[in-house]
Amino acid sequence: MGKIILTGDRPTGRLHIGHYVGSLRRRVELQNSGEFEKIYIMIADAQALTDNADNPEKVRQNIMEVALDYLSVGLDPEKVTFLIQSQIPELTELTFYYSDLVTVSRLQRNPTVKSEIQMREFEASIPVGFFTYPISQAADITAFKATTVPAGEDQEPMLEQAREIVRKFNQTYGEVLVEPSISLPTNETCRRLPGIDGKAKMSKSLGNCIYLSDTEKEVSDKVRQMYTDPTHLKVSDPGHIEGNVVFTYLDAFVKEDSFEKYLPEYQNLDELKAHYEKGGLGDVKIKNFLKAVLEEELAPIRERRHYWEARIPEVYEILKSGTEAAEKVAAATLTDVKNAMKINYFEDPEWIAEQEAKFTK
Ligand code: ATP
Ligand code: MG
Repeated sequence: MGKIILTGDRPTGRLHIGHYVGSLRRRVELQNSGEFEKIYIMIADAQALTDNADNPEKVRQNIMEVALDYLSVGLDPEKVTFLIQSQIPELTELTFYYSDLVTVSRLQRNPTVKSEIQMREFEASIPVGFFTYPISQAADITAFKATTVPAGEDQEPMLEQAREIVRKFNQTYGEVLVEPSISLPTNETCRRLPGIDGKAKMSKSLGNCIYLSDTEKEVSDKVRQMYTDPTHLKVSDPGHIEGNVVFTYLDAFVKEDSFEKYLPEYQNLDELKAHYEKGGLGDVKIKNFLKAVLEEELAPIRERRHYWEARIPEVYEILKSGTEAAEKVAAATLTDVKNAMKINYFEDPEWIAEQEAKFTK
């Protein structure tokens, strides 16, 4: 069987450049590589509700925002099936059966969920749905028999959990499910891009994002306010690279020809960093360079977004037909799962024959 991709995002806000370098950019490369038999991209609205139960309107409003972000980065509806999670009830049913294979203590060990619980100050009152979302993610991935999940580093524990569920299921009921693996960005910085405030992760929930749909002015203002090095007061002072988000973003976005185009007095990023560390290089200069590098990447994304914003009914059709096609695939997997678990009484002539034999002895 060929390779299959399933990945997705929570519609809790517009997508940001952390999503872009962590997953979206790679999805587009993989889409164009021709290596994949099928690519499913899911808007995880049911998962978004696990920590937004009191705010369904936020989730509802962000579905179209995320769909527009997808199309604007160059995901191609001819090559990709887009789907909305909540509209595929088979995913919920799979989650229910998989939860029998997972212990509470195993869920408690998931480091990503642990830190997300802390961040949301959920400690004393975690919604069960939020606590168990790794199981629902395993259902999403396995429903499409996905082999490959392009995602950021925070998703590693989810993939580990999904693989455990697959192994447990296949051992217990027979070989039905496919073990998925994560496809992380090769560039380490891109696996977890920090926020503009220097916090460990750019995240919608932390409000420290540069959004793909920000205007040039918004991006420029955010770069101007960006945290650099508090000890680098005068241009002549030696500066630090470690923890300096301007350099972190340059690590994630600089391309081979960026220097030639926008800062020809340097050969490469190592040279720029060395000069900054030595002293004599001002923050304004590196920030202007970052703005130019970001703008080169974001301008075409913004332009494609405008194209699709003028075609919302078409986007609606893409989502609807994608979800319908995806549901058929998930339904076939659910049938395989129920057959393997032998909870298929009305489709299994053996069951009624057995029962009849048992009671007419
Ligand atoms: P929320 O705060 O609602 O959880 P989020 O910004 O963390 O939102 P998700 O929808 O949870 O975004 O993540 C979607 C995908 O983007 C995942 O594959 C995740 O690994 C990746 N991702 C999110 N933030 C970053 C980041 N800062 N750096 C790299 N990848 C990221
Ligand atoms: Mg997240």
